[in-house]
Amino acid sequence: MITKQLLSDEAKNIMEVVRVFCEREFKNTLKWDAEEYMPYELWAKMGEIGLTGIMLDNELGGLGDDLLLAVVIMEEMAVYSPAIGMSLGAHTILAGNVINRAGSPEQKKKYIPSIANGSKVASICLTEPEVGSDAAHPKTKAVRKGDKYIINGTKTFITNAPHADIFVVYATTDETSEKRNVSAFIVEKEYKGIKIDKIKKMGMRASPTGQVHFENVEVPVANLLGKEGDGVYIMMAGLDVERIGLSGANIGMIKGSLTEATKYAQLRKQFGKHIIKYQLIQEKLAYMFSQLEINRCYLYTLANEWNKTKGGKALRSPTAAIKMHSAEAAVKCAEEAIQVLGGYGYTSENMVQMYWRDAKLYTIGAGTIEMMKLIISRDLETKYTTF
Ligand SMILES: Cc1cc2nc3c(=O)[nH]c(=O)nc-3n(C[C@H](O)[C@H](O)[C@H](O)COP(=O)(O)OP(=O)(O)OC[C@H]3O[C@@H](n4cnc5c(N)ncnc54)[C@H](O)[C@@H]3O)c2cc1C
Repeated sequence: MITKQLLSDEAKNIMEVVRVFCEREFKNTLKWDAEEYMPYELWAKMGEIGLTGIMLDNELGGLGDDLLLAVVIMEEMAVYSPAIGMSLGAHTILAGNVINRAGSPEQKKKYIPSIANGSKVASICLTEPEVGSDAAHPKTKAVRKGDKYIINGTKTFITNAPHADIFVVYATTDETSEKRNVSAFIVEKEYKGIKIDKIKKMGMRASPTGQVHFENVEVPVANLLGKEGDGVYIMMAGLDVERIGLSGANIGMIKGSLTEATKYAQLRKQFGKHIIKYQLIQEKLAYMFSQLEINRCYLYTLANEWNKTKGGKALRSPTAAIKMHSAEAAVKCAEEAIQVLGGYGYTSENMVQMYWRDAKLYTIGAGTIEMMKLIISRDLETKYTTF
């Protein structure tokens, strides 16, 4: 594939490592999906080959600050299990990376090695029952009392929460302030006052999701990330990393849909001919191929650019564009693959029906399609004059 030319040798190598690992270890994907089971027992094995260390410092056991590696790991893993990929992404690219970027040397030394080797599981707690897209105004509160903050509030739709050891929690620290005074904290599951309810979902079923209640949870001041009031800045600085990294999963689901549909169309005969000979089927496969190549080309280019520049405002709209476009394409390609597989496509015994349910998540999670369009249109109002 021409787009693979955009990959570094390291990225090509790790993609192959993921492929071999998933081929061997992820044989029960459909069973895990049906039983809503996340094989956390595999996390230590994933840690041994570096996968739990995405976007974490090399010297603390991670894979380093290389977003192209994050993208290709998410891509390849999503072919075999989008749900495990999402849990891994929430663990490293979302929660781990926040501590890695905003943590003090002491905080990083304490928390990053166990996240990087997969012995502890991390979650990011941003969304609340009443606060979704407007994430910069959490109702969860953290009030300082001596050398502790007391956190009260509820976070919802939190990936990994039912199994997490470490939570990165955003909370309002000063309601009276005219500025948005949001702060980020590292919270350990052992702290008293945390209760977690599991949430059932239509897709990404192997990835556990929870609602986390914080009731008078005492968090040491030493666990504040950055300074009080830095929360929105910390959140915003990580958004492009999350969106570029997780978009890799959309590419993986497009790739998986195209592979399954092509294989089936080459074998299945109707009216005396393989269905791949029919133009209506060819149109679907050609559409999937074009979505794979175009989305992948743009995403790899963006990840390479982020690696050079470490992000910034210039990448915000391009990132929103790929997050939106690749998510919509992944849903559409999975749907087309179901159609190519006919009645078999509608059974629960194939991957494409799972991709369809799983892909829908990325039109919502890490920023909805509508929010991506708002980001781009804000730039169009103020920034771009020529294209
Ligand atoms: C499986 C799953 C896993 C998740 N994992 C995590 C996690 O680990 N951590 C975490 O913090 N969150 C997580 N989320 C939450 C996710 O990020 C939010 O669901 C998402 O940001 C949208 O928020 P909301 O659901 O409250 O929708 P809302 O913000 O209430 O939006 C509802 C609808 O209104 C639209 N809308 C909102 N505002 C506007 C506007 N200004 N203009 C036009 N349309 C608008 C939205 O696009 C959407 O269509 C997860 C969600 C799911 C489903």
